[in-house]
Amino acid sequence: MSDRLQLVFIGTGASIPSPRRRLCCLAVERDGEWLLCDCGEGTQFHLSRNSISPGKIQHIFISHLHGDHIFGLPGLLATMQMLERSQPLTLWGPPELATYIHWLQKHELLTLGYPLVIEQLPLGAVEQRQAGPFAVTSAPLSHRIPCLGYRLQEKEKPGIFDAPKAEKLAIPFGSERKQLQNGKAIVLADGRKVEPAELVGAPRPGRSIVFCTDTRPCIAGRGLAQDCDVLIHDSTFGPADKNRARQTGHSTSTEAAKLARLAGAKQLVLWHISGRYTPEEEEAMTKRAAAIFPAVLLPQDDLNLQVPRRMVQ
Ligand SMILES: [Zn+2]
Ligand SMILES: [Zn+2]
Repeated sequence: MSDRLQLVFIGTGASIPSPRRRLCCLAVERDGEWLLCDCGEGTQFHLSRNSISPGKIQHIFISHLHGDHIFGLPGLLATMQMLERSQPLTLWGPPELATYIHWLQKHELLTLGYPLVIEQLPLGAVEQRQAGPFAVTSAPLSHRIPCLGYRLQEKEKPGIFDAPKAEKLAIPFGSERKQLQNGKAIVLADGRKVEPAELVGAPRPGRSIVFCTDTRPCIAGRGLAQDCDVLIHDSTFGPADKNRARQTGHSTSTEAAKLARLAGAKQLVLWHISGRYTPEEEEAMTKRAAAIFPAVLLPQDDLNLQVPRRMVQ
């Protein structure tokens, strides 16, 4: 089993698709299983360009019901049906998401033969659930309509087993080594007691991905992002358009950078970029953000980011 955690930025734009940026979708892979955050128009087509099979998607998290985040969802669900999916799919989102999907089903606009589980998350509180390998925290963001941010938190991994030392101590292969790796002391046939700390390193922290869009900078977003590995944050506008950001319930790139710094995030991804900016203007936005928070990235569509585990001190 690999320890891979990768992000694919399927669609990084805002509101209207453009030749340079598609609409909102983030794909996350952990050990061959995929999940999506948001599903903008054309998502299924762009997934196939990235060789991501719809059959491998187990969970889809929806932030809110603006079209640039969900218009790709019915088509993707229908394609899964056409591909004769049989395994369940779980949709996560605000309660209106269930209303929307049930309306499509009631009017026979969407007919699914596979189990579709819709997890409705509260709009007024922080909620914690489990989704596959991730503990998921959702929290209400600050947008024009109800909107949820998500934190996907991996479990910690046991420390590294010191095989050469085990060899030296003549620890037999099999159950004894397994017990030590599981944190239990063992007593060998010759009476020696071996503690796990002698052979197993400190646990390796799980990685965390935070998805905060669409939103103004807010306390809930900061709470989700606390000490995270990757923060993907609304950065619809550049700093010169801060009034527009405020009026429309979005953030600027510098506001996102300030929040990343306050939260102690390890990496910031500027996200949901307005199509009004030229590549040169986007570069200037990134530089302004980097002056506040150096580990910043403004990705192009289809960029792939590997998320390494933090080194244990
Ligand atoms: Zn949007
Ligand atoms: Zn929106």
